[in-house]
Amino acid sequence: MANPIKINNPLFAKHEITLSVLPLYLNHPIISGNKAYKLKYNLQEAKNLRHKTILTFGGAFSNHIHAAAAACKEARFNAIGIIRGEETLPLNPTLSFARQCGMQLHYVDRESYRTKTSPAFLEKLQQQFGEFYLIPEGGSNSPGVQGCTEILSNSDHSQYDLICCPCGTGATLAGISLSLKPNRQALGFAALKGGEFLQAQVAQFREQLGPTPSSSSEPTANFKIITDYHFGGFAKTNPELMHFAGQFEKQTAIPLDPVYTAKMMYGIYDLAKKGFFKAGTSLLAIHTGGLQGRRK
Ligand SMILES: *Cc1c(COP(=O)(O)O)cnc(C)c1O
Repeated sequence: MANPIKINNPLFAKHEITLSVLPLYLNHPIISGNKAYKLKYNLQEAKNLRHKTILTFGGAFSNHIHAAAAACKEARFNAIGIIRGEETLPLNPTLSFARQCGMQLHYVDRESYRTKTSPAFLEKLQQQFGEFYLIPEGGSNSPGVQGCTEILSNSDHSQYDLICCPCGTGATLAGISLSLKPNRQALGFAALKGGEFLQAQVAQFREQLGPTPSSSSEPTANFKIITDYHFGGFAKTNPELMHFAGQFEKQTAIPLDPVYTAKMMYGIYDLAKKGFFKAGTSLLAIHTGGLQGRRK
């Protein structure tokens, strides 16, 4: 597993804080980032239940679909991807990769896609595809959260006070917050507009999983969501964000994806400028991957 990379910048020296990045994108050439952690116990559970087929959901650029397709191929599962929206040909790189891995792609219109967790919709899928193990969108369920408790335990993080991570569903942050040592905090950066729901959502993911061997004794007080850096909504960007990501990569040789990690990193730099972090704080930013989705 990759080790943290320290970022040197006068901004941090000025405010007497330090920033390191944990590059999950370096853990595996293909199945990388937080999605690998979210898949781990889902695939194990599917195997325990003797399923042969995995069915899961995602948008056309989904990091989860990309990772799930590769992981299913590696673990010899049949894979079915239920994709939001209409088929566009030629397939984009994400879907074309998924198909190369052997994933069957099925498209559903956006309205039906919104009902994908309803019993009626699931029954229809069962009639159409037979028995399968279902992994929800983004791999965000209890086995997914359980996997994310290992993001930190795989590396020595005792020297960091504040762990930062980007949030979509909040499952990754839930796993991280469960694995924090006492007196440590986690800060989630919402990648979408209206991210206020995430505080309750993360708490719910934590409760669903229940106590784990590594879980911190502090209940829900050890994490917080920052909602100011969504840049207009999920997958929306602007020139300022793209310029920042370009400069960051030039200075650190760490590439960022515009959907999640660039927004978190922009947020960290902006908060540092504003004096948000107490002097003496050492920050660890989790680079959750997502580089497959970068569009040139
Ligand atoms: C899916 C994803 C996230 C969001 O994870 P959640 O557990 O849904 O909050 C963050 N970063 C990257 C790169 C992702 O692919």
